[in-house]
Amino acid sequence: MKNIRNFAILLFITLTFSLLAGCQSSAEGEASAEENEQQPILIQGPMPIEAENFAAKLEDVEEETSGNFVFYKGKVDDYPVIVMKTGKGMENTAAATAIAIEKFEPAAIINQGTSGGHDPDLHVFDIVLGERTVNIGSMKTGHLEDGEGIAPKEWIPMDLMASEGSAGEDPDAENIRYFEGDKDLLKAAKAVKDTHEEGKVVEGTIGSADVWNNEVDRIQWFHENFGTSVEEMEGAAGAQIAKAYDVPYLGIRTLSNNKTNGGEYNPDTAEANQEYVYEVVKEYISK
Ligand code: SAH
Repeated sequence: MKNIRNFAILLFITLTFSLLAGCQSSAEGEASAEENEQQPILIQGPMPIEAENFAAKLEDVEEETSGNFVFYKGKVDDYPVIVMKTGKGMENTAAATAIAIEKFEPAAIINQGTSGGHDPDLHVFDIVLGERTVNIGSMKTGHLEDGEGIAPKEWIPMDLMASEGSAGEDPDAENIRYFEGDKDLLKAAKAVKDTHEEGKVVEGTIGSADVWNNEVDRIQWFHENFGTSVEEMEGAAGAQIAKAYDVPYLGIRTLSNNKTNGGEYNPDTAEANQEYVYEVVKEYISK
């Protein structure tokens, strides 16, 4: 009887210990699987000429589509990088960014491509690192009655993120909303400035809207009132969504044209920008 009881106690102790040991080793297993799963870096480009050069540089590429968005999933220096062809404009970019964040849980996003200069000191082939990005289509007009005309210079910036209330009524919404570029991405971009030989690389403000401004006075108005260095049609839309999910984000835009100093449109700038962004990505990965 006593032997049976001793045996039962021994069995209980043995089972308890082996169960505990089992739990511990499976917890360790989960941790190392998580460590191995590297979060990809996303590179966004709106048009084929703004995405396909970079996509061609990826190793082990697999293509995936969602709606009209194309994701080229591959590697740079053995690290996962996904190039996204988002299509042009704010809506495409916002939707593609949200879908990509949900699908791929990226570590960081770079939105890159061409732009038009607002700063007369910047020339075609120069590159602007988006220290700040701003939606230059988000505006409230002044109050004018029937027959009083329109006065675009009196338009007021409107911050759609100011509150959940009416932006039309809320004076707190009458501010410019800037999205800050991520510090670590900026640091990586600054570290490889010299690799871009076709022009200079500067920090600045990227303005975005579904508008192509060709009125030089209007361009100057944005430059003076919003501090814009360049304009394009995507950056602020991606920045807004990246901020909503707290994903590090940076805009990197080359000037393909600049109305303020006679800079004629040159599509070759798109490829040169991707070459530079490729260097930025390698630098970011290495850190
Ligand atoms: N349909 C237009 C072209 C639009 S292309 C036309 O034929 O004139 C706009 C693309 O180029 C966008 O992806 C935008 O980000 C970029 N872009 C380059 N220069 C721009 C500028 N000066 N203003 C706005 N977007 C510009």
